[in-house]
Amino acid sequence: MYKVLARKYRPQTFEEVCGQKEIIEILKRSLQTKKVAHAYLFAGPRGVGKTTLARIFAKGLNCLEGPTPIPCNKCDNCIEITNSSSLDVLEIDGASNRGIDEIRNIRENVNLLPAKSRFKIYIIDEVHMLTNEAFNALLKTLEEPPSYIKFFFATTAPEKIPPTIISRCQRFNLKPLKKEEVRKKIIEICEKENIKIEEKAIDEIYDFCEGSLRDAISLLEQLVIFSDEKIKYDDVRNLLGLPEEECIEKILKEIRNKNYIATIESFHYLISEGKDPVLILEGMIRKIKEIITMKVKNKITDLNIEFFNHFKNLEIEKIFEGVNYIIEFKDRIRKEREPILMCEILLLKLTQLWGQEKDYESKKIIEEIPETIFDFKEENEKSSQKDAIEELKYKDFNWEEILKEIKKIKPTLEAALREGKLVKIEGENIYLSFEKKFSFHKSMIEKPQNKIKIEKIIFDYTGKNYKIIPVLNENNESILENPEIKKIIEFFNGEIIQVEE
Ligand SMILES: [Zn+2]
Repeated sequence: MYKVLARKYRPQTFEEVCGQKEIIEILKRSLQTKKVAHAYLFAGPRGVGKTTLARIFAKGLNCLEGPTPIPCNKCDNCIEITNSSSLDVLEIDGASNRGIDEIRNIRENVNLLPAKSRFKIYIIDEVHMLTNEAFNALLKTLEEPPSYIKFFFATTAPEKIPPTIISRCQRFNLKPLKKEEVRKKIIEICEKENIKIEEKAIDEIYDFCEGSLRDAISLLEQLVIFSDEKIKYDDVRNLLGLPEEECIEKILKEIRNKNYIATIESFHYLISEGKDPVLILEGMIRKIKEIITMKVKNKITDLNIEFFNHFKNLEIEKIFEGVNYIIEFKDRIRKEREPILMCEILLLKLTQLWGQEKDYESKKIIEEIPETIFDFKEENEKSSQKDAIEELKYKDFNWEEILKEIKKIKPTLEAALREGKLVKIEGENIYLSFEKKFSFHKSMIEKPQNKIKIEKIIFDYTGKNYKIIPVLNENNESILENPEIKKIIEFFNGEIIQVEE
């Protein structure tokens, strides 16, 4: 299965190529006008179509119906190029043929006429890997090549190519593919292959592949094997070993709440789930980038408004300062012996920098959301039925109903919560009191992974970011310890059944 999709969907015509439209226009025009340079350099990040363009261009030059911007893909020449078996289109991997001997080989062969095509074309991939001697040898060939010789170079690192080589090439700088471009391709492949995939999963694939279609397709291939019926957002994250988004948001929210203990707990929860500290930091950076986009450009991202509100009032300078710390630490911790300790220090630093005192009013913040965001929300509600339902789902706080929700997802947690008594709700803090004999249940709820789960369910129910705070009720104990009461109990030979406040 692996690589099958990538091969199957490798573009065979310019029209099928994803993105790079300006470059394609130039290549097509030169095929049309038959004004073709001796050497071309395709520079750009991995997986954006450098060798694909070179191959199609070679087809356009050597197609029996050509030179043509629309190679037929049916003649022997086209088919041989597609199968990489053409004697006149030679693909050389610069990384494994770096030396002077390989280039000498080319130099000797350039004097031989093409076997059966119009041109003899050398496609050298990762050309920057060639040794200096090899470059010098190549330069001699480039200086006065026979008219039937063409060189197509591809590279991810053009800065490593000597300027003397670059100056002899027509250069194209390929850009990373845009989200829409990758998205279109993924949807097209999924439709043709009958693969079901969630919208959000496609976004996540794009975020991972960073504009490389090749990476996106190979990830899709793995997901087909990894997922059940439908490729879900969580499948992508799990496959990539990425921490769950809500856990990342939780860490950031606790930082903002200036709650160092809760921040560390949330972080340790992810570590206990086997997540890589670097990926956790990367997840944080990505979230913060979205916050910045939303703040600075006033541009809508996928960020949920409730989460964004926590950062709404944080000065942009402080956000930049903090995110620089994270980037700096992220680069360092790979080399550190104690990456977890390093992360804890970083989180402490961020808590000090970003944390705000507890009594901040979330209400006030909601009032200050720019109108655009509300516009977006309204539009979203109108346009997407699903979101509207999601929105309506939020209900008023009802502890009994919330417990029922928790029971559906995790009955043991619900049982533990029922041993506690809801004593008060202060702002977004829910205080649950546990008697000493239920301290086990209390500690169960205190476990970060359970706390996160419970708070997530409450959030899904109410749309608010409530926090569970279990406390130990020592009333009974103190009453029992009270000497007066001890006497009374002894006198009546009784026991305490209930304590009324
Ligand atoms: Zn052809």
